[in-house]
Amino acid sequence: MKSLPFRIGNGYDVHRLAEHLPLVLCGVTIPHTHGCVAHSDGDVAIHALCDALLGALALGDIGKHFPDTSAEFKGIDSRILLRRVVELTHEAGYQIGNVDVTIALQRPKVRPFIDAMRECLAQDLQIPVDCVSVKATTTERLGFVGKEEGVASYASALIYR
Ligand code: MG
Repeated sequence: MKSLPFRIGNGYDVHRLAEHLPLVLCGVTIPHTHGCVAHSDGDVAIHALCDALLGALALGDIGKHFPDTSAEFKGIDSRILLRRVVELTHEAGYQIGNVDVTIALQRPKVRPFIDAMRECLAQDLQIPVDCVSVKATTTERLGFVGKEEGVASYASALIYR
């Protein structure tokens, strides 16, 4: 069967929050008392986005491509991982159409940083900023996000050839 020129993917990631760590979301460092615990810089939103793109390509997940047991990826800027996933997308013969990222966290308010996040992602994805959506939501103090134990992120991506 001939495959469609479009493919979609979704991604999901969670990281635990701990004191005295940088909080990096979509490549932007947000001033806060807590940050994400991770092998990398803990950019949970970029990790979800990488998984959305890898999902669209049916190429597995971020853990397969960048194992957290590898010293190579210790403390790595997640934007480097995203750029690698963009390369994989292009190598597979696809362009990125648009992406939509949702960050679930109780605090702090990230709205003032949304445009900087979109710019960051647009650069790495090599697409116009109006094709990059970043949204944030609290969970009304419910669950691990609401209790500020962690941050979750969801992402969707459309690719085409
Ligand atoms: Mg992660």
